Amino acid sequence: MSGKISVKDQKILCLKSGNRCAMPECHKELVIPKTGNDPASIIGIIAHIKGENPTSARYDPEMTAKERNYYDNLIFVCSDCHKMVDDQPNTYPVEKLHKIKEEHEHWIIESTKEEVINISFAELSVVTKYLASGAYIPSDFYRLIPPKDKIRRNSLSSEIEKLITMGMIQVRQVKDFIDKCLDIEFGEHLKQGFVVEYERLKNEEGLEGDDLFNGVLDFASGGSNDFKNRAAGLTILVYLFEKCEVFEK
Ligand SMILES: [Zn+2]
Repeated sequence: MSGKISVKDQKILCLKSGNRCAMPECHKELVIPKTGNDPASIIGIIAHIKGENPTSARYDPEMTAKERNYYDNLIFVCSDCHKMVDDQPNTYPVEKLHKIKEEHEHWIIESTKEEVINISFAELSVVTKYLASGAYIPSDFYRLIPPKDKIRRNSLSSEIEKLITMGMIQVRQVKDFIDKCLDIEFGEHLKQGFVVEYERLKNEEGLEGDDLFNGVLDFASGGSNDFKNRAAGLTILVYLFEKCEVFEK
C-alpha cells in the first residue's frame, strides 16, 4: 500500500501523528521505539485517504498518482481502524478523514503542552538517560547560535511557536536538573546528541521547518510516545533552543 510514498512523507506523517493511530477512539501507539541495536518498528499503516487503486475505497480518478501518494492524502492508522474505515466508506468519507487527521495532529500538540506543567525530575531523568545512551561526541561538532529571530529563521509555524513558548515554562527546572543531576560531561553529551540528530534529520532525511522540529522532538522524547515524556523532551529541546545550541539562528 505504501509503495510509491516517499520515505520523507512517511516520516512526516508518523511525526505529526505523534506515532499514534489517528482515529479518535483509538490513538494506539504505532511506532515501537528502537531497542538496543534494533531499529524502530512501524506497526501502523500509512493509508491513502483517497484510495490508491480504482477498486480502493474513496478512489478519485481526477487525482494524479503523485498527488495520491503525497502527505496531504495520507493518514496514519492501525490495522483495525484501517479495516473499519475501508469497510465503512459512508461513515468515513474523504472530508471526515481529513478532519480526523487534522484534529488528531492538533490533539498531539495540545496533549504534549498540557503535560509540560506536570513534568518532574523523574521524567527528565527517563528522557536524558535514554538520550545519553545513544549519544556520541563527534569532534569539533559544537556551535553557538544566537537567539535572534530564531523561530522565523527556522520557518516554524505559530503552532510550533506556541509549543516552544509552553516548553519555556520549565526551562528553569531543566537547568536545575542538568546542574544538580548531570555532571558537566553528561550535559555536554546530551547537547551534542541533539546536534547530531538535528543534522542527520536535516541533511539525511531532508526535513525542514516544523517537520524538522517535530523530528528533533521525537528524538528528545527518549523513544517514548508517552505525553509526559514528550513534554519532558520538549522542555529539554526548548532549553537547548533557547540557549541556541540546536537549530539555526
Ligand atoms: Zn486505530
